[in-house]
Amino acid sequence: MLYKGKNQKLAAEIVAHQEKLERVYERFLGRDLYRKLVSMEKQILVPEAFADSLEEFDKGISVNRASVGTPEDNKFRVRVSYMADISLEDNGRIICKPNSVLNTSSGIIITEKGVEIYSSVHPNTPSYLAPYIHEYSHFATYALQESPVVCSFLLAAIESQKEGIRVNISDFQSIINLKNEFAESKDSKKLGLLYLQSHLFDISEAQANEIQNRVLNGIGYRTDKFKEFYLRRNQVARDLNQMSEERLVDYILNWEKIETGTDFTNNFLDSLKNLRFRKIDINTFHHQQKRQQPED
Ligand SMILES: [Zn+2]
Repeated sequence: MLYKGKNQKLAAEIVAHQEKLERVYERFLGRDLYRKLVSMEKQILVPEAFADSLEEFDKGISVNRASVGTPEDNKFRVRVSYMADISLEDNGRIICKPNSVLNTSSGIIITEKGVEIYSSVHPNTPSYLAPYIHEYSHFATYALQESPVVCSFLLAAIESQKEGIRVNISDFQSIINLKNEFAESKDSKKLGLLYLQSHLFDISEAQANEIQNRVLNGIGYRTDKFKEFYLRRNQVARDLNQMSEERLVDYILNWEKIETGTDFTNNFLDSLKNLRFRKIDINTFHHQQKRQQPED
């Protein structure tokens, strides 16, 4: 498990658990996928991919972004290159040129506030390492998925913004209110986008939480309270929690091929195959963005 950031307490907790962590991730993913993960982290997780605050991470950069949680939270953050020629049909299908390639980069933000909130809810786990395992597990799914769920979420969030939907997807009450509003006004595209975003968010969090839970158990920590917390609101999380390790890994690799109860979401997921995500480190990404896109 790689960390090249400045947080010394986090670095020390990783070092103290390093061997166990490697063994647990390798056992979980199997040798080939684990090797792929290690090679991807070496390529992508450059020192600039780590930050102690969102402000630091986003400094001087104007890019597409989705609003999830508060600025103080720990985050796994992805960027996707400029998407002027991508749009969504009313039925949810992505419209793009054949064989479109999107550059994407990612990074991990661990804040003191995020660590504090986390350890107040989940005592008895290493205070920095446990939340880092969560964000790193988002990275692991991103690195291994052909269509990363986090990038798909960002696409959906940007399309929602184009439709004028302003929503913080982790604010459950505002989602319910908006769903009622769009259902009443029979705005099926807005409603579809909202269901899609909720679905992608649920999958993304369910995957990261389930991996985190199994890794924490694997390195010797009990997680009863944590498990109760993350299973409560998320049906996908409850499904993943029941899976064998083999099935869970298969789900993570093929998440977009699984049908949902919503046509709009199914159309979106099916059309993801027309896009290719090229994962590059954050420095190369910014360099290429500057060349492609005039400063605004
Ligand atoms: Zn998360």
